[in-house]
Order: sequence, then structure tokens, then C-alpha cells
Amino acid sequence: MRITKIGHSTVLIETGGTRLLTDPYFGTFGHIAYARVSPPALARDEIGRLDGVLVSHGHWDHTDRRFFRGLEPDTPVLVPSRTSVVMRIKGVRSPVPVETWKSLRVADAVITAVPASHLARTVGWVVQTRDACVYFAGDTYHRPFMTEIGRRFQIDVALMPVSTYRIPLTMGEKGAVKAARDLRAGTVIPIHLGVQPRSPLLRTSQSPEGFERRLRKTDLRTEVVHLADGEAWKVSTPDDASLTTVGEGFIPSLHQIGHNDSVWREHGRG
Ligand SMILES: [Zn+2]
Repeated sequence: MRITKIGHSTVLIETGGTRLLTDPYFGTFGHIAYARVSPPALARDEIGRLDGVLVSHGHWDHTDRRFFRGLEPDTPVLVPSRTSVVMRIKGVRSPVPVETWKSLRVADAVITAVPASHLARTVGWVVQTRDACVYFAGDTYHRPFMTEIGRRFQIDVALMPVSTYRIPLTMGEKGAVKAARDLRAGTVIPIHLGVQPRSPLLRTSQSPEGFERRLRKTDLRTEVVHLADGEAWKVSTPDDASLTTVGEGFIPSLHQIGHNDSVWREHGRG
């Protein structure tokens, strides 16, 4: 498996022939209150064919309207349940809403929506493949549900935010250390670092490096990999690594559920 940080929370996960992208955001300006401090390593049209897009929530720095508009219409965009209306406004043509703890198969990956806690309705995503199990936290605070995520999945790699803002909207250094412990992640790759408050007064000295320093003071052996935008990391797991079982047995594939909400809800209940 290869994990490429495109920028901010946009990460390309490639395994076998399967290509997944998280929280697409390719804007270079930012927002009235936040500046994009590092541009994305690739442009929208350089990402290439995708098997699926995983969206954690509808905030502006996680949903790129022009990217969604340019996406092949049959590319599934997985979103938290009950966000389809918001996601359509954000440009997603056929969102696939997924309830928390529900799984579905996209190409060679089994993808599960897991709890997350943020200002918006949000989920994290766990991507299980034959190579490795990856947790994409989206924007979330450290919360007790992380213990449950760590219990249900053997996470090889956790893509996690480390907030550097004065009003933290995700985990800061301490929260990230607690999350690493609860998730029992083998490796943490810090993300969500592409934008900063425009006002220096709202920036802090918190950093992914600070998170790693705190982590090294604990007994945890979690590895931290700092990826620059555009940098890729190859996940190596033991040869006997295999797909661990999730959910309640039957995991619908996208072609089984179709792309529209009603069909998915029908299967989601079953
Ligand atoms: Zn957010």
C-alpha cells in the first residue's frame, strides 16, 4: 500500500489496483479567516482515476466543489449518513451515505464509517485491504469511541489531525497522544496541516513534531511519519497480514447497493 499526502487532509491511498482519495480540497487561497499555507502537491485533474472518495464532513477545507464536479459520475463518494443534502450543495453528484459502524466494499477495500466528534456532522473512515488497515480520522477530537475503534480494528496507519489553532477544532498534541494510545495504531501520519488562521494571534506552538515529542515520553512504540505534501509512504506489514473481519457478516459492495440513498438505507437496515 502506498499513502501519498496531497495536502491538508487530502490523502491518496493506493493498494493493489484500488485508488481512494480522502477529503478533497485543492483550493490555494483558503478562507477569509484561514490561509492555505501549503498548496496541494497535485491539481484536481492530476489525481487520475479513482475507485472512491471518502469525505469525513462538509467543511470547506474537506469538500472541493470543482473536484467533485470534475469527478467521473460513477465514482462513489462516501459521506456520513444524513449529510447527502449538504454534500450535494458541495458539488457531490451522487453521495453514498454510510451509517457509523456500517461497512461496504469499494473495489478491493472494505470501508467502515467510524465515530468522530467535530463541529459538523462527521465520521472517520477505516480502510481495510489485504496490505494494511488505515484509519482516516477526518476532523475529530479525542473521544472515548477511539478505544472502540482500536478494539474493532488492528490499525496499521492512522491519518490524524494535530490542531495548531488557538481555538482547537480537532485534537491537539495531548489529544493526539491519547488517540494514538486508544487506537493502538502502529504508525501515525499527521494531517490537516495545510491551512492556518490568518491572524498570528490564533496560531499556537502546537505541532506534529510536538505531538511526537510528547509521544516519545510515553511507553508507546507508535511510529510517527511526517509526510511533506506530495510525499508518499509505502506501508509494509507482515506477509501474513490479512483482512480482519468487520461488521455483521454481510458487507455490501457498491454495485450491490447502487449509489443512491434509498437503496443504501434499505441494505443498511438489514
Ligand atoms: Zn472541519
